[in-house]
Amino acid sequence: MTDTMKQFAVTRSGPLKEVMTLGEVPVPQPGPSEVRLKVGAVGINFADVLTVTGEYLTRTRYPYAPGMEFAGTIDALGEGVQGFKVGQLVACLAGKGGLAQYAVSPAAALVPVPETFSAAQAAAFPVSFFTAYHALKTLGRGEAGEWVLVQAAAGALGTSSIQLAKALGMNVVALASTEEKLRIARDLGADVTILQDDPDRIQKVKDATGGQGAALILEVVGGTRFEESLQMAANRGRIIVIGNASREDATMRPVELMKRNLTMTGLWLTSLMQDAAATQAAAQGLTPLIASGKVAPQVGPTYALADSAQAFQDILDRKTTGKVIVEPQR
Ligand code: NDP
Repeated sequence: MTDTMKQFAVTRSGPLKEVMTLGEVPVPQPGPSEVRLKVGAVGINFADVLTVTGEYLTRTRYPYAPGMEFAGTIDALGEGVQGFKVGQLVACLAGKGGLAQYAVSPAAALVPVPETFSAAQAAAFPVSFFTAYHALKTLGRGEAGEWVLVQAAAGALGTSSIQLAKALGMNVVALASTEEKLRIARDLGADVTILQDDPDRIQKVKDATGGQGAALILEVVGGTRFEESLQMAANRGRIIVIGNASREDATMRPVELMKRNLTMTGLWLTSLMQDAAATQAAAQGLTPLIASGKVAPQVGPTYALADSAQAFQDILDRKTTGKVIVEPQR
């Protein structure tokens, strides 16, 4: 093994292909309670893109090493690490610096994955499925038989949400921007699919749900679409605010919630992960569904490490479906 490796770094905000630079840096050494992974796959999330462009929920502190969700085989154990062994495939959730050939993670941030998973499947799993679980159950309190509206339905979170909602007995209305994306949603079990820009989309959601509207809305687009979500909700509907992919501001008069007794709840996986009981409950809910194959991470387009900026740009340009993966060992 060499002493140096390739890793992406970002030193300032700006256009993705200008500010994401691939450098040669020392291979990191695991400290106490840490492990080092030979990174096989990195899951690229919309949040990674916004963090690089400086548009995320939290302010980006440069220099910044992207790559928070990755998977690979453990190749070194730090002092005091127990329960993991060299050669084991694991995923890391909420790490940093994963867009590299090797990465160090606290052992506590590792997520065990089924032995049958590839590195790409392992990297496609944690963020999207934990978020989907928290949206549908922890915060959304979804029940079998209820209608759930899933936006950006062919994306990483969308494909996870559709599968999980169906596995939990819910009915799904899926919105996405192209017919091809709607086909993906249907193949995963969505009951009704509607083009995001269909001029009759609000009425079609009502019609699909027996005139009631959706009991639960996973709101990831924001802007004017957020205002529409209020109109697509059933009386006493729950709207889970998960993202703002449009990067537009929304205006809302809080009294609109009063009129039909709506509930609006924010969801941020990063802060929910501090809640050990909620994380454990989500893991317990997800494990049998993953093990039985009832839900499966949807690996989307894969890229070589050197093409990472293109991967980020393709997510921003809405060109991707499933979880975008970078493979650093290619
Ligand atoms: P996706 O794979 O879903 O990619 C983003 C999708 O957003 C696009 O494919 C596109 O789908 C849709 N979109 C709608 N409007 C726009 C726009 N103006 N520009 C770009 N994309 C747009 O990404 P993720 O699964 O990583 O994330 C989906 C959403 O969920 C994001 O908003 C993200 O921030 C959020 N999220 C939030 C988490 C949290 O903890 N709160 C955790 C994980 C995800 P289409 O073309 O069909 O409209």
